[in-house]
Amino acid sequence: MTERSFLDNLNKYEAPTFWKSFARKLGIGPVWLVEDPKLPRSIRIGREIFINIRGDYWRNYQLLFNAQSYEESVVLKFLHEVGHIVSGHSGDPQLRIDERGISEDFERKIRENPLKTVFDNPYEREAWNFALNIRENSPELFQKLLETYKDWYSRNKLGSKV
Ligand SMILES: [Zn+2]
Repeated sequence: MTERSFLDNLNKYEAPTFWKSFARKLGIGPVWLVEDPKLPRSIRIGREIFINIRGDYWRNYQLLFNAQSYEESVVLKFLHEVGHIVSGHSGDPQLRIDERGISEDFERKIRENPLKTVFDNPYEREAWNFALNIRENSPELFQKLLETYKDWYSRNKLGSKV
């Protein structure tokens, strides 16, 4: 249970109600918004989602996906993790978590890969396509996810956006 103790101790918040109900309809949850440098990326554990809401790298999402704001990058990250789960992807077998967090080997491997190679991995591509497809073809849903996150973020005043 060392992985669980790491996850339990993260500085995290319940996702907005609208996000939780969207996820629940797909059999997904809990959904956590994590503001903690110990979690440098978003992950899923079974059907539970942990979104890294720190904004340090949000402009990568502008480059890759034309995200217009930090808040939109977080919505895309959420939908990406949902996409993995509804596509039935098992987790990355190289992802290791212990009580100190994600293994340094895994983090190093991810950082060494140029940004665009994310699309070389068919699972990553499928999960991103799930997110982008919702933005493209279900704009009302996407807007509602975006507005509810903006509202949540402004009320919580986390101050991590850069
Ligand atoms: Zn992914």
